[in-house]
Amino acid sequence: MLIGAHVSVSGGYPKTLEYARSVDAECIQIFAKSPRQWRGAVLDPDAAASFVEARAEMGGMPLFTHTAYLINLAAADDAMWEKSVYALSDEITRGHLLGADGVVTHLGSNPSEDIGLTAKRIAEGVVAAFELCGECTARLLLENTAGAGATYGGSAVELGAVVRASGLNSDILGVCIDTCHAHAAGIDVSGSAGWTDLLDAIDSECGEGRVGLIHANDCKFGLGEHKDRHEWIGDGFIGAAGFSAMMAQDRLASTCAVLEMPGEIPDKDSVNIARLKVLREQNRS
Ligand SMILES: [Zn+2]
Ligand SMILES: [Zn+2]
Repeated sequence: MLIGAHVSVSGGYPKTLEYARSVDAECIQIFAKSPRQWRGAVLDPDAAASFVEARAEMGGMPLFTHTAYLINLAAADDAMWEKSVYALSDEITRGHLLGADGVVTHLGSNPSEDIGLTAKRIAEGVVAAFELCGECTARLLLENTAGAGATYGGSAVELGAVVRASGLNSDILGVCIDTCHAHAAGIDVSGSAGWTDLLDAIDSECGEGRVGLIHANDCKFGLGEHKDRHEWIGDGFIGAAGFSAMMAQDRLASTCAVLEMPGEIPDKDSVNIARLKVLREQNRS
């Protein structure tokens, strides 16, 4: 498993890679545009191309992008759904131009209890977004949620329903497991049995080979509390034992993991990357 972090692009793309190197990241996630706005500045193709080149020169560090939080592919409202499809298409295009190994998105929310209907609506949005962006080769990764309120995607069953309804193969569509969200949604990833159950459930609901990325975040609140508050690795309810169990999963051996640590404390990434690397090392022997 390669270990990295979500990195700010506010200083421009070259700075992103410098920062990644300074905290010993082996892979990175970025926002391809502002995550709290519908529209972003047009992505300069030259800037994108030189970023791809710089990354290749550094040994091709895997890159993931994360879509805007406003996107709601589950929206009951047609205008919101359509706006979300266009926004997702734009994000996939950006991921493609940046050479991303995956584009992570949240699915949105819908008050309906009918998983099948909501899954169909989301899947139609995903398929339409790919159609709009034409020849994109970026792989879209559907992220699990903490299962709060009407948000969609808190379980392997919900993610799997979208994957199946889309009919898209695993080269183009996968899933991203956020460990904090899983724990908050009631999936106990603080030990080995919970990890086996979770990966079995994803394999059977979504199909094998669908896990494209891990968001490695410890959880400030307890199992099933539906509270999405990230904690430093080992300091939360998942704990070092949970992340050690994650490192021991053969099925995740070639999957990347990125941290999404809150705050601006300079060592939040270097310290947490080091903590995960210690656990990875222990599971190698
Ligand atoms: Zn996310
Ligand atoms: Zn979160």
